Amino acid sequence: MNPSNDPLRREQIRKEMAGRTIPLEQRKKISETMKRRLDEPEIKAKWRKAATGRVHSEATKEKMRMVRSKRKLTKSQLKSKLDLIFSKYIRLRDSTLVGDERIGVCITCRKQIGAVGRRTGQAGHFISRRFMSTRYDEKNVHLQCARCNMWGAGEQYLYSIEVDKLYGAGTAQQLHEKANSTIKITEQELIDLIEIYKEKIKDIDKDIPKPPVDVSVFG
Ligand SMILES: [Zn+2]
Repeated sequence: MNPSNDPLRREQIRKEMAGRTIPLEQRKKISETMKRRLDEPEIKAKWRKAATGRVHSEATKEKMRMVRSKRKLTKSQLKSKLDLIFSKYIRLRDSTLVGDERIGVCITCRKQIGAVGRRTGQAGHFISRRFMSTRYDEKNVHLQCARCNMWGAGEQYLYSIEVDKLYGAGTAQQLHEKANSTIKITEQELIDLIEIYKEKIKDIDKDIPKPPVDVSVFG
């Protein structure tokens, strides 16, 4: 038996060592030997084995559950996640870095607004979010001020003019027709869209810092 595993022998060593000071040189040598031993494959394997039987605290278990649950979000959770990511993409797409802020203009009132961070801008839909066929259509969503987005139902007329200006005459009408076509978006499509828009956001972030734009162009 390895003497260090024998409790009696260990107790004997402890008594012998009591009150003894180990010289600095010897202490260094011991610590170096121990460090070296920790790199040995058998020692590593022993540590790994001990770790597999480890009992996690409730807090750690909860964190692990959350990480795991990311993989199986419900359809409505996936939709919420995509809404957030898609909104961020739209706000980034419709803004430019000015100093350390991203600034854009409201699509309907042309007011200058912040697009991310301490923002006043939102991703406003031309055709309501209620319609799934156009909910994630990039032509249907633009940076818009909170006032126009929340309270300006009448702004839809202005919005349709801007959409046609941006993408060509008839686009607003096409979106209107598309909205009324029923589509059933699958969970996999939501997952794919989340990935697509995550990448698009990364691409825009890569461009930062951009040279500041001439702010005088904003209404
Ligand atoms: Zn506005």
